[in-house]
Amino acid sequence: MSAYPSVLDLIGETPMVALSQLDAGPCRLFVKLENQNPGGSIKDRIGLSMIETAERDGRLKPGGAIVEATAGNTRLGLALVAPQQGYRPVLVMPDKMSQEKIDMLRAFGARVVITPTAVPADHPENYVMKAKQIVKDTPGAIMANQFFNDVNPEAHYQTTGPEVWRQTGGKVTHFVAGAGTGGTVSGAGKYLKEQRSEIRIIAGDPQGSLYTGYAQTGQMGEGEPYKVEGVGGDKIPTTVWFDYIDEWRQVSDRDSFLMARRVAREEGILLGGSAGMNVHLALEVAREIDDPDACVVTILTDTGERYLSK
Ligand code: PMP
Repeated sequence: MSAYPSVLDLIGETPMVALSQLDAGPCRLFVKLENQNPGGSIKDRIGLSMIETAERDGRLKPGGAIVEATAGNTRLGLALVAPQQGYRPVLVMPDKMSQEKIDMLRAFGARVVITPTAVPADHPENYVMKAKQIVKDTPGAIMANQFFNDVNPEAHYQTTGPEVWRQTGGKVTHFVAGAGTGGTVSGAGKYLKEQRSEIRIIAGDPQGSLYTGYAQTGQMGEGEPYKVEGVGGDKIPTTVWFDYIDEWRQVSDRDSFLMARRVAREEGILLGGSAGMNVHLALEVAREIDDPDACVVTILTDTGERYLSK
């Protein structure tokens, strides 16, 4: 039989495909289709491994609750994986999130707690504060804590990095990925550097995020709001492993969304804003290289269907 034992066995081993319509100059440009994970994003990978690690550590017991407070796809990863494994996902999110994402989580059986967006970080109704309170009040509950949990970059070191290496037959020369928690670019970057230290690891960052300024100067500058979801940040997570990242580059909302639309029309792949940012940056990097042996790889983080209402 070639059937899979469960939907969780479909996480990872996502296909890699060449972008053939965009002009990348003499070098090759490949994207990894993370929208093909069963939960529709790269975050299925860390949902599974954060749960497995918490089980192994004995922190998570049968029937326990997994609480997370974020505004990214991790919630969907956890909502997909947790009920499959017998845990209750509790997801706390600010009220600015798209209705599709909230409806999807509830359809997956998660408890969704909506908090007001416009409250200070230390207010009890702030989504992180609220999640911490739920963990305190709920016996057997743990916080997934993706921004400060090394299991996140480790998952990409174990899976995403080796897949990129294998799928390019070891020919990858540049790896580009936007950083939210930084787990993808850090974990996959570390793995690729260990295979061949010359591989350049380039982190993408939305204009307005503090990561690039911090990486370049060590200072926390002034942030500004931006519209691309899931990348950048206003605090520095411990899941960004700066040592493995050669370069940080910023991309505007406009360039990210325009590229997402272009890839849908020209390549037939529907992207979200952060994947648009990745392709914009990968193309920029590719066009600076005059080398037919160069092989630039980037990540299509999730599907554009998740953002159609916006
Ligand atoms: N794009 C989207 C839409 C995301 O939800 C995330 C995860 N926050 C990322 C990109 C970035 O991935 P990472 O957290 O591994 O840096």
